[in-house]
Amino acid sequence: MKKISIALDGYSSTGKSTMAKWLAKELGYGYVDTGAMYRAVTLYGLRNGMISDGCVDQEALIAALPQVSITFAPSDDGRNETYLNGENVEGEIRGMEVSSCVSAVAAIGAVRRHLVALQQAMGRDGGIVMDGRDIGTVVLPDAELKVFVTASAEVRARRRYDELRAKGDTTTTFDEVLANVTERDRIDTTREESPLRQAPDALVLDNSHLTIDEQNAWLLARAREAINRSL
Ligand code: C5P
Repeated sequence: MKKISIALDGYSSTGKSTMAKWLAKELGYGYVDTGAMYRAVTLYGLRNGMISDGCVDQEALIAALPQVSITFAPSDDGRNETYLNGENVEGEIRGMEVSSCVSAVAAIGAVRRHLVALQQAMGRDGGIVMDGRDIGTVVLPDAELKVFVTASAEVRARRRYDELRAKGDTTTTFDEVLANVTERDRIDTTREESPLRQAPDALVLDNSHLTIDEQNAWLLARAREAINRSL
């Protein structure tokens, strides 16, 4: 059976990655979390003194890109985890320090071009579910299925806040998370380099009031339709 490419784009903390991972497993496809790649570059910049007080030394970060290797490997329980130069950074890239700077890093054209080329190489043979902000518009413009995921900022911040709490973060407040989600939306939609946009041929999924099971069922049905169309 032909293996298609599936692009999932949308706002921060809409649960895209969870949906994309689930769909990839269901279909037996590969999965790429492109946000994790921007997060890993951000972590590299933070650790190497190229980002301080939210200010990015663009020249230094761009020069360092060839030394930044980002790979994914499954953990013991089968979850896809992110490695930066061979070190598992899955936990660290999800924290607030990286979240606060990642959109500034992702707005740098040279960073985007570098990561987009890697993402296109990963998606070259199809059979992939990729999630991010510019997958349907820039990375995989020929994807057979494009979905644009959205939900209200409050619902997204609540999910993210609960997630941070569950991981043991007891200091970040709900208002801080809401401010971060809103600020990332603002930077992602207004940046010059491939801003977050709904591709004209994308299907919209507003999951503010859907259960995980409902959204997964919707997504799988759309994927099966797209696979059948491409036969
Ligand atoms: O998806 P996630 O929230 O982990 O992405 C982190 C950040 O990386 C986003 O807020 C956005 O600024 C950036 N990003 C991007 N393009 C992508 C994926 C993520 O600009 N394809």
